[in-house]
Formats: sequence, structure tokens, C-alpha cells
Amino acid sequence: MKETDEKILLTPGPVAVPADILQELSRPMIHHRTPTFIKIFKDVLAELKNVFGTEQAVMIHTSTGSGAMESAVVNTLSYDDEVLCVVSGKFGERWSEICKTYKLKVHELATPWGSAVQLEQISTILQKHPKIKAVFCQYCETSTATVHPVREIAELVKKNAQTLFIVDAITAIAAMPLQMDEWGLDVVVAGSQKAFMMPTGLSFIALSEKAWSFQKKSNLPKYYFDLKNEKTANEKGQSFFSSSVSHIRALGSALQYFKGAKLQANIQRCSAIGSALRLAGAQIEMPAYSSSPSSSVTALLVPDGIDGEKLCNLLEDKFHVTVMGGQDQLKGKIVRLGHLGPVSLSHFEKAIEGLGKSLQLLGKDLHDEKIKKALEIFRHETKSLK
Ligand SMILES: *Cc1c(COP(=O)(O)O)cnc(C)c1O
Repeated sequence: MKETDEKILLTPGPVAVPADILQELSRPMIHHRTPTFIKIFKDVLAELKNVFGTEQAVMIHTSTGSGAMESAVVNTLSYDDEVLCVVSGKFGERWSEICKTYKLKVHELATPWGSAVQLEQISTILQKHPKIKAVFCQYCETSTATVHPVREIAELVKKNAQTLFIVDAITAIAAMPLQMDEWGLDVVVAGSQKAFMMPTGLSFIALSEKAWSFQKKSNLPKYYFDLKNEKTANEKGQSFFSSSVSHIRALGSALQYFKGAKLQANIQRCSAIGSALRLAGAQIEMPAYSSSPSSSVTALLVPDGIDGEKLCNLLEDKFHVTVMGGQDQLKGKIVRLGHLGPVSLSHFEKAIEGLGKSLQLLGKDLHDEKIKKALEIFRHETKSLK
């Protein structure tokens, strides 16, 4: 067990949990309907609004991020509604699958993996199918480390009073700029194990005024996820069902990392690490995969002739760094590194060095000089960060 404890976790969620947050998780239980907890809960809900950039209520589900995705669907839509899902990777597929589960009429806009969706494609579909009630998209498609232009899409969807724009910001929020109200995003969902640096287990959702008007009319079945009940309870400092007390106390600590100017600082840090990783990756013949790269997770291409799965396993076994490979059509072809939280820069240096050396061990003709150069570039690009 000791050995796994010492691994450096650089996956795009879950991310490493800082010690102060871990400590919160181990505190004795208190009841969720007590004044002590109600105060903690109210503070957390208020603080979440800053991270979302909204005046609207941000609500918490005790579920993984996918729960908030399902909540977004069942709270806004009705039987037989038409929707548009941008599908450019595993998480875009998930929007589509959830919508199909509720028998909605799904138009899929398939975008090549690794590239951003084109605005013209969305406007063409919306013109052709004026009854579309919602457009679903990822801000960052984690499976390909690709960013979609959600701010611009919001501008476009906003023009149609009958259509909502619903955004999975799970690997974007707190790691990339996001202003829900200012940008006109109608529903935003997030999850605890990404930039919030918590264990998996909480998800977050906020609705615009326009989305709340859809919520009132929505007739898809919902019980646990009924946000009307949740919001009413939240206004009294309560959750509708039991609160996950430990997680919410830990969230209180996590949110301290994003208070005031710290949120912007984390966003800049994520972005600087992302560009440094792309430059360093290119040095060891692992260039960035995406043409619209995310600043919260980076996908590097595995060189021809090298098995990406073996590369990830070697990196973990020999260099004690855990990263993620690709899924489906990208299986064995990319490695993904998450840089959402305040991960120590030395951990990324270990990852770069480990990747280079693992490539060598797998038979790639890669000169030591190139690994050295990659590390120099990474250090140079991140020298202003602490
Ligand atoms: C992690 C993630 C999710 C949520 O996955 P869960 O396993 O349900 O927490 C959803 N969308 C994106 C883009 C993600 O990165």
C-alpha cells in the first residue's frame, strides 16, 4: 500500500487532494440539521457563486459529475423535446446518451476528436431545426484535452428565447476563465474531483433565470435531482436530503484556494503549465494532440511505434507518476496529464523526465539531450510560478 500512496497523481480528475482538505475529511461527524453545519453550508453555497461567476443559486448533489449532467437534463427538458449535443469525445457522448435515455430527440453534432466545434455548424443546425430546446456542450472535453468556444456559442444560442445553452464545465471551472452570468450560460455543471481538489462525490449545478423558467415547465421524471426542492431547502441553509457533511466541510477548505484574487491566479497557473507542457512534450517527440488545447488537461501524442498503454504503465511502475492514456479511438495513442489544482511544478518535471526515459526503455531513439532540453523549457516557461 505504501508504494501506491507515494505515486504522483497527474490525472485529469481525480487530482491530488491537499493535506488541509484531507484533514477536514477526517473530522468527527456532526448532524447536518444543526446550526454549526447550517453556517458551514451557507458559506459554501455563497462561495461557490464566485467560482461560477453567478448571482444564481449553485446547488450541490451528492453524486459524481455525471449526476449533475443528468440533473441538467431532467430539470430543464420535457418529453419529446429536441436537443443538440456537440459530440467530440467521451463526455460529449455522455450528454447524448443521457438525453437518449430520457427519449429526447437528439441531434448529434459530431466534431472530429481533438478539434473545437465550429460556430457556423451550430447556427446552421439551429436554423434548420428551430424547435431545438437545448444545446449541450463541454467547455473542456477531457477525453481529448480540447476546449470548445462556449462563450461564443452562448452568444449565438442567446438569440433564441426558446433554446438553452447547457455546459459541462467539469474540467474547466476554477481552472479556466468562466463567467456564467456575463457570458449567458444557462446551465453550468461541475464536479468535486477536478479543480476543486476533493475526492469524487459532490457535483454542482447552477441555472440561469431562463433555465429556471424551463425548470418550472419541465416534465421529465425526477425525484432526487428535483432542483426546485433543493433550492427551496438551500434558501433556509439546508439541503433537501442529507448533506454529505464531510465532503461539504472539505469543500469549505477547498474554496479557500479560490477566494478573491486566488481564483484568477490558479487560472493563470493552469494555463502556464499547459503551454509549458506542450512545449516540453514537443522536445521529447510528444507534441500536443489537440488543435484547441485545454489549459486544465494536456494530451500529448505518443510517438509512432510506441504503445501508449505500455508507456503509461512504465511511467507509473518505474517513475511513480500516474497519468491517463486515451480512450476508444485514442487508446494507446495519447497520454493525458491533468494540471487543474495547485500541483507542485517538480511533479511535472518528474513526469516529463519519466516520459522521456520510458520512451527510451520502450526502444525509442531519443537522445538524453532532448529530455534535458524539455526540462529546461518547462522550467523556463514556469519560472514565474511558485
Ligand atoms: C470527469 C468528467 C465528468 C464527470 O465524470 P464523473 O465520473 O461522473 O465524475 C464529466 N464531464 C467531464 C468533461 C469530465 O472531465
